[in-house]
Amino acid sequence: KTITPGGTFVVEPRRLSKASAELRARGFGEITLPPSTETAEKQASRCTDCGVPFCQNACPLQNNIPDWLRLSAENEVREAWRVSSQTSTMPEICGRICPQDRLCEGGCTLNQSGWEAVTIGSVEAWIAEQAWRNGWVEPIRPLAERGESVGVIGAGPAGLAAADRLRCEGYQVTVYDRHDRAGGLLIYGIPGFKLKKHVVQRRVDRLAEGGVEFVLGCEVGKDVTLSELRDRHDAVLLAMGVYQPRILSAPGRGPDSTVEALQYLTHQNRRDLGDAEQDGWHEARDKRVVVIGGGDTAMDCVRTAVRQGARSVTCVYRRDRDNMPGSAREVQNAEEEGVVFEWLAAPKALLSQGDAVTGVRAQRMALTEAAPGERRNIAPVPGSDFDIPADIVIEALGFQPEPFAAHEPDLKLRDDGTIKVGAVSFATSLPGVFAAGDAVRGASLVVWAVREGQDAAAEIDRYLKTRTQEVAA
Ligand code: FAD
Ligand code: SF4
Repeated sequence: KTITPGGTFVVEPRRLSKASAELRARGFGEITLPPSTETAEKQASRCTDCGVPFCQNACPLQNNIPDWLRLSAENEVREAWRVSSQTSTMPEICGRICPQDRLCEGGCTLNQSGWEAVTIGSVEAWIAEQAWRNGWVEPIRPLAERGESVGVIGAGPAGLAAADRLRCEGYQVTVYDRHDRAGGLLIYGIPGFKLKKHVVQRRVDRLAEGGVEFVLGCEVGKDVTLSELRDRHDAVLLAMGVYQPRILSAPGRGPDSTVEALQYLTHQNRRDLGDAEQDGWHEARDKRVVVIGGGDTAMDCVRTAVRQGARSVTCVYRRDRDNMPGSAREVQNAEEEGVVFEWLAAPKALLSQGDAVTGVRAQRMALTEAAPGERRNIAPVPGSDFDIPADIVIEALGFQPEPFAAHEPDLKLRDDGTIKVGAVSFATSLPGVFAAGDAVRGASLVVWAVREGQDAAAEIDRYLKTRTQEVAA
């Protein structure tokens, strides 16, 4: 912000650079372009230091945003990094993929008063990139080693954030994951055009170099049991996310007539990571693609199909634009890239010829009047059926917990299958076993997984120290 000689208060315009939609469609590079130093400083200087940090309150990590914005604007980037890294173990990741329009930037005073919000996420990622480039990201070197060990099940953001904090405290940390790479949905779910894979890999490398052991290709419940891990470690953290896809219930849906969203995205992420092409990997080149669903996963599928060279890409969602769970920013990106949205349309049947799917029969929906304080519901519009031709139908209807936990009869679950934990302690019903991330919250956001992983680590630290004191007493 600047004050002109005439005393007029001028706010710099918001600037966030994206690659053109045409360029984006040709590859899987990140679409948000990193700001220059001048742009980052100018954008940071747009913060009005309004006194009530609505942005900070709207950030699940309670990041000290006004302070690192001020320090960035004053070219004190190393200090800004110190502040930023105090509350977050993955600022360069959250800065890239948080739905800021619903979180920090949605709370920004400029946004509330009709100006556009400070580009908080972009500045956060920029500060962290300066830190990686200039060697300010410190290796993990605990002040003292502790004898106790912690087993972390799941190498997604919740597990990695917990491993980071626990190893810094000197615990011996082993992370188990059934995948061949660490990162969870950061590596195999979220596409490279939102988050480059090397950004995740260098976080994993830092943990490994700092002494965190990774046991990959190891499925807990199959290759090793939870009770074996409880015997092996002084505490265990369950951070295995939610992976059971919800499926479409519609006539004509056979076992091979649809593609599961996460499988589709994983195959493309594996291609980006240079893995050899496998039978059964789906590709949308020259095909007509219909994606069913309206969340972040659906948006990632439609945009992946565009980049694979699909002939047409249509997203079918039963509610309207204002009521979709995905980020408005991602819908806009998808529209810019040529995706057609069929709002208020529910799939009614899958059409096929022989074994091959040929389309989706959909029905128009209408929003009904809401009871006071309730969300508007939807109802089918009679006689409104219409067909959308398709060669590939991708189901992106959300996820629920897998029945892993059912193998452990004493592990208490909620009705929806998520793990029941103490609100502050993150302790499950099994002594010494804690849980965090999507496995507890249900499908959520990376920033919440990071927050819970960090908080659960603090609780595990407290638990183990209290136990040591009790043994000593
Ligand atoms: P996960 O990231 O799911 O990690 C869990 C790990 O546990 C996995 O590596 C899995 O292999 C492992 N595991 C599971 N079961 C076992 C077992 N039995 N034994 C061993 N290992 C096991 N959030 C955002 O904030 N922004 C986005 O843009 C965004 N986009 C998304 C796009 C997609 C396609 C999806 C599916 C989700 C997206 N999300 C996004 C949500 C976000 O990715 C999750 O909320 C977050 O990754 C949850 O972290 P987590 O650590 O709890 O679980
Ligand atoms: Fe915003 Fe997410 Fe960063 Fe918090 S972690 S400041 S919500 S981008």
